[in-house]
Amino acid sequence: MTTSVEPMSAALRADFRHLIDGELVASPLSFEVINPATGAAFARCPDATREQLDAAVAAARRAAPAWGLASFAERRACIQRMAAALRAQQEPLAELLTREQGKPLGQARDEIGRAATQAEGMAQIEIRTDTLVDDAQRHIELGWFPLGVVGIITPWNAPINLAAGPLTAALYTGNCVVLKPSPFTPLATLKLGELLAGVFPRGVVNVLAGGDAFGEWMTTHPRIDKISFTGSVATGKRVMANCAGTLKRVTLELGGNDAAIVLDDVDPLAVAPKLFFAAFVNSGQVCMAVKRIYAHAKIHDALCAALAAEARKAKLGDGLDPATQFGPIQNRRQYERVLAILEDTKRRGGRILAGGSVPAGPGYFFPPTIVSDVPEDCRLVQEEQFGPIVPVLKFTDVDDVIARANDTRYGLAASVWSADPARARAIAQRLEVGTAWINQHRATAANVPFGGAKESGIGRHYSEIGLKSNMEARVVSLLRA
Ligand code: NAD
Repeated sequence: MTTSVEPMSAALRADFRHLIDGELVASPLSFEVINPATGAAFARCPDATREQLDAAVAAARRAAPAWGLASFAERRACIQRMAAALRAQQEPLAELLTREQGKPLGQARDEIGRAATQAEGMAQIEIRTDTLVDDAQRHIELGWFPLGVVGIITPWNAPINLAAGPLTAALYTGNCVVLKPSPFTPLATLKLGELLAGVFPRGVVNVLAGGDAFGEWMTTHPRIDKISFTGSVATGKRVMANCAGTLKRVTLELGGNDAAIVLDDVDPLAVAPKLFFAAFVNSGQVCMAVKRIYAHAKIHDALCAALAAEARKAKLGDGLDPATQFGPIQNRRQYERVLAILEDTKRRGGRILAGGSVPAGPGYFFPPTIVSDVPEDCRLVQEEQFGPIVPVLKFTDVDDVIARANDTRYGLAASVWSADPARARAIAQRLEVGTAWINQHRATAANVPFGGAKESGIGRHYSEIGLKSNMEARVVSLLRA
């Protein structure tokens, strides 16, 4: 493990402000933000009040008519300027993101670069008015108009990327926005807000940091029209229940328990590094990470050995150290949860092939851990671990493995690995998920819808489907004389 590069005695940074109605503003109260590589606070973040939420929503409502009437070309130009600003500030933003989130600096840079690319890609998608009927009696067309004010609530695993997607979709389709990041990782998002102050007209984008209660105020606020929420299933259910009070539209991007099904015709040595990366990048804290690996009995042992070898090679450490490949778990609560899952796995007879013992502090470090011989009903298989520990399970029969992969309330994504694409495709078409990848896992694009089946969510991000979830359909029907 590499050592921490955060000086423990450094004064807390406090140069963070909300963006409300085009102004950067402080709050009477603030909270500490912890660097997970040290376990120590390194910054103070303003904690927005309910009055500040009201002010942000009022500003967004004031800005909404003009922004909604702007052309797609005008709004596209602003999105392109947002992408350029993200790229221009990639380095300082990435460093801040690593400090608050823990991910290696290279992955923080990638997250910001990807946010810019996805934003530009989404702003190329055309929203057309379609003619449904055009005959002697009638002309009927179907068009789309913005909802008004969209509230965006994000989690702590990829704050910039998970803000930029819904932000772009809402803004490009003519809505104004109030964005709230997770209190675990609010800082890079507040800096994004500062950048956006110079890009969008006053009031169009508002960014406020706050805790879970602030999120709840957003979901019950009478003047917010939609909530785009990314986070856990449990919170997603609460968000939806609260939104029902004012019939807000919702997009919910929730947790996953993605299965990777590895058939008997693959070369275990060739797929192991790809599977390993898809399971452990960002220390497993990715909604669409591989969370269960089902390996055919013929290649099971060889794949376990190859995955364990990858895990032993992994360099764990402070994300600011250029040698680091895997950072810490983002917060103490999640670290303790993953530790409890590890203990349960051991108790249930799981065989630890690599990792499995955590280094002494400071920081929330947990080495990539590969486990075999676990019972299907243990926590590690049934729950979303959202951390660097992954089970490898054996199968022999294809119908059986499909049933096991589908036997979950989650339905975010899955993958099938095979030398025979047709065979893999036949399996992929039977998986109850929003995305079934073949010979890859974790690939998304601006024009491809992404989202969950079952309890992994409602609605889709990206693509025309994702954009239209920020709009209302409007039929204009003319009766000809
Ligand atoms: P979380 O649900 O605890 O918190 C997410 C956000 O919701 C935070 O900003 C939090 O302050 C806010 N919040 C908490 N209680 C709220 C309430 N009652 N009303 C409104 N807002 C509230 O999730 P987390 O622990 O930050 O993130 C991890 C989870 O997110 C994992 O389950 C992961 O799979 C999921 N996730 C899903 C996707 C996806 O695209 N499907 C992407 C990333 C993460």
